[in-house]
Amino acid sequence: MYKINEIFYSLQGEGPFSGHPAVFIRLSGCNLTCDFCDTQHQTAHLHMHATELVWGAISQAQGRTRLVVITGGEPFFQNIEPLVAEFSRAGWSIQIESNGTIEPKEGFPWKTVSLVVSPKSGHPPTLMDKADAVKFVLRDGESPIDIGVYRGPIYLQPIDDKDPVKNKANLEWCRDFALMKGWRLSLQLQKIINVQ
Ligand code: SF4
Repeated sequence: MYKINEIFYSLQGEGPFSGHPAVFIRLSGCNLTCDFCDTQHQTAHLHMHATELVWGAISQAQGRTRLVVITGGEPFFQNIEPLVAEFSRAGWSIQIESNGTIEPKEGFPWKTVSLVVSPKSGHPPTLMDKADAVKFVLRDGESPIDIGVYRGPIYLQPIDDKDPVKNKANLEWCRDFALMKGWRLSLQLQKIINVQ
């Protein structure tokens, strides 16, 4: 039984699947407490089994997508292997958004998922060898933490400080950093186009 904060259909607004229609499953709970966290993941509104979540996703999608984004909170805070297996069996593409600091049990079906690791300051990720993409979320003047040798795509996303002046500075910082490093800019599309 999974603790779920919410399940909904929308457009992915961040990272490599930006712009894709997807069903989002926001799992409840996280091992970190970032001051900029913009999710209400602490509250578990639903308790659902893996099969119920697949049926819930099918119901939300109504045939418009077969991409599920498993997010949080921190997805690996719960044992999501049965959930991944169930979606995989049902023929869905699976994206996981993680802070990369919790190792799932050995044998996790990495080949069936696309993992986006979003490293957090002071908490170096241990899942870098499994990452398909990295997304740094930064404020004006902040540098990304060291993630060692990594050759995949890197996204920079400005932190939403809920303050237009600060947000402009955060955006310009990430823009310039992305240009300097040859990285990609991720703008929280869902906030720009006003969807969930
Ligand atoms: S790791 Fe993500 S979900 Fe967890 S507190 Fe930080 S921003 Fe929120």
